[in-house]
Amino acid sequence: MSSLVPRSYKSFNKTIKVHLDPLMDKKSREQQKEWNTGIFMRHTDEIELQPPTRKFAMTKEEFEVTFFHEFTHQLFYAAGRNDLCDDEALVTVIGTLLLQYLTSKKGSFTNLHYYTDYEPYYKEEGI
Ligand SMILES: [Zn+2]
Repeated sequence: MSSLVPRSYKSFNKTIKVHLDPLMDKKSREQQKEWNTGIFMRHTDEIELQPPTRKFAMTKEEFEVTFFHEFTHQLFYAAGRNDLCDDEALVTVIGTLLLQYLTSKKGSFTNLHYYTDYEPYYKEEGI
């Protein structure tokens, strides 16, 4: 079953790689005593995710929500907005909205002609 989680993607001049760690949740609970199913590693341009396993059941949606949360951390970091990158509540909302957009969008405008030699309106209006 395909998901919206890529193995890698471009972000400005960097390639962000996505890795799966089947023991991520177990390790994070042992080390930090907290539930952690994803992390964006800003210094290595990597996102690490807990994949669904027999010992860590998770739906496709939960897996994708986790990726889009980490993806949003990465977007804010790439935009130079560490203040937003560190705002977990905002990151969750934006990540969820991005995923909702991708899973709910319908139709597209396919019959448009994209002119490369257009005459901008401001020329006609003498501005
Ligand atoms: Zn987070």
